[in-house]
Amino acid sequence: DSFRDFQLKTELLQAITDAGYEYPSEVQKQAIPSAILGRDILCQGASGTGKTAVYVLATLQQLQPIDGQVSVLVVCPTNELAFQITSAYERFSKHLPNIKVSTFVGGTSTAENRYILRNKCPHVVIGTPGRLLALAKMRALRLDFIQYFIIDECDQIFKMHDTRRDVRKIFNMTSMNNQVLMLSATINEFIQPICKEFMRKPIELYI
Ligand code: AMP
Repeated sequence: DSFRDFQLKTELLQAITDAGYEYPSEVQKQAIPSAILGRDILCQGASGTGKTAVYVLATLQQLQPIDGQVSVLVVCPTNELAFQITSAYERFSKHLPNIKVSTFVGGTSTAENRYILRNKCPHVVIGTPGRLLALAKMRALRLDFIQYFIIDECDQIFKMHDTRRDVRKIFNMTSMNNQVLMLSATINEFIQPICKEFMRKPIELYI
């Protein structure tokens, strides 16, 4: 029971050690190996069980950063969560110096968002649905190169009509051969089929 069993890059193992993580949590043991192999995953697990590290590590393990291409898109329901996810990406990518992460959420300056997209060229973008869709519609955020499409707190996202519609539009602007990972504390029978519309033969984990 070690993060070494996942055969992660040494840069990631170092960052995991730096973070003080000794052992993978249950959800990490169950999800990381399949996520690294590129499988779609629908994962229910209580908050605080380490779901964030599942997709952060799996995407950083696979990501080949190319400037000008956003490869990882993480959609989440709140600004606060977007900033927490950003910290996790920063924490685990710190020994992978070429990976750039940006966050775009409601209530910030769209002009500034556009400036960052043009000049920083992030490989990982985290944000809330309305703002990500607005930037994509302006062609400031190009979704053609997305390879990893993550929805965190997917129950919150799909529960509300507006965010559900925005996420569908965002997804339809991607190239469609994405790896899709969705995670949530609860996935009820109403939400589950909606999640699966976006996925191909997902591994379903209920932890
Ligand atoms: P999450 O459920 O992803 O919000 O994570 C909850 C908290 O647990 C965060 O503070 C993580 O940094 C921490 N955490 C996640 N995985 C591990 C682990 N394997 N060992 C120790 N702490 C962890």
